[in-house]
Amino acid sequence: MQDMDAGGAELDELFLIKPGELMLKGDNRPMFMRALRRNMRAMMKGLPHRLEDRHCRLYLRTHSSRAEEAACRLRRFIGISGFARPVACARDMDAMEEAAAKVAAACVSSGKGLVYKLRIHRADKNFPLDSYAVACEIGSRLGRRFPALKVRMKDPDWILHMEIRESVYAYAFAEEGERGLPVGVAGKGILLLSGGIDSPVAGYMMAKRGLRLDAVYFHSYPYTSRQAQEKVETLAAMLAGRIGRVDLYIVPFTDVQVKIRERAPAEETTLHSRACMMRIASRLAYRKKANSLVTGESLAQVASQTAESLRFTASTTELPVLRPLIGMAKEEIIALALKIGSYETSILPYEDCCSVFSPRHPLIRPKYEAIRASFEALNIEEDLTDALKKAEVLRFGE
Ligand code: ATP
Ligand code: MG
Repeated sequence: MQDMDAGGAELDELFLIKPGELMLKGDNRPMFMRALRRNMRAMMKGLPHRLEDRHCRLYLRTHSSRAEEAACRLRRFIGISGFARPVACARDMDAMEEAAAKVAAACVSSGKGLVYKLRIHRADKNFPLDSYAVACEIGSRLGRRFPALKVRMKDPDWILHMEIRESVYAYAFAEEGERGLPVGVAGKGILLLSGGIDSPVAGYMMAKRGLRLDAVYFHSYPYTSRQAQEKVETLAAMLAGRIGRVDLYIVPFTDVQVKIRERAPAEETTLHSRACMMRIASRLAYRKKANSLVTGESLAQVASQTAESLRFTASTTELPVLRPLIGMAKEEIIALALKIGSYETSILPYEDCCSVFSPRHPLIRPKYEAIRASFEALNIEEDLTDALKKAEVLRFGE
């Protein structure tokens, strides 16, 4: 009964899932575990499944016919350090021998090799035998059943894990998880998502520190094309596939940029438009109860990303501006973009709003007081309010 889905079919495939940094967090653990469960239910939507947690492990059951699909989703799930597909058995030696033999037979027949070691994890300290005694007993029983197997502590071909809990779980291969904190435990941030390489990576990195994200994109139609916007939509959808629901706010930014161009010296325009983006994003943050802004800025990558420029562009918001890429080299950022699958979309060649309005010689080290005064003189507050009012919102990941 317990392991059937609503239609009565058996949920015969089990995943044993190890939460990530959760273990370190003492009193916060129940809250982290709740977030993990909630996120996992959302991630497994559409797959028949049952989810339980006991003693710092999640147990996910699904149909064996859907196991590969579940594994694919688990591989990209943020907040777990790994998972395995164990053979479960009762807590007695004969049953444990059978389970161990099943795992060993699968390893041998799939050509993993004949040299192994046993690693016993006695999570339930009430189990009468200690780990060493269990290892000796299972090892010698396996030796009798598979005379060709050899035990070696150093450099084995595979490791047979047995976790002794309310039941015993045996497995040889655990897959690495994405790690990080469960999305949502650090509150919500507003990601400034352009169509470039950097910002989707920045969003992904902050999601791994527990931030749920909504995103904002500033577009300058007709200076930027419909395709440029579609590219950002594709990136938002891709992010949502990893971090869960993302609302994307598309803010018409042309009027603001035109005004900046009319009222400010050419070399300052990029900086002012960045400052305006921050200001609009922080208004959106208040509306969405977000605690921070996230950008793809990386120190000195372009003129608007020197320390002096960053000081100014962030001065229009009181919220912390989180810049996870600040110390990363472009190649490192690209490697992450490839890993999360955003790179191919990011390099599609559509104009971004700032390349259209970019001056030939932008200021590199603005003087703070002077550029602040020049920003005030733009008298642009009302246009920013207007732009946000006209924003369109699209929801991804639901
Ligand atoms: P990216 O690759 O993320 O576009 P970039 O190297 O091109 O970054 P900039 O264009 O200077 O750098 O942008 C710096 C950051 O400002 C971006 O990472 C993004 O967070 C934000 N940003 C820039 N343009 C936009 C935009 N049109 N809409 C939303 N955010 C933007
Ligand atoms: Mg850009």
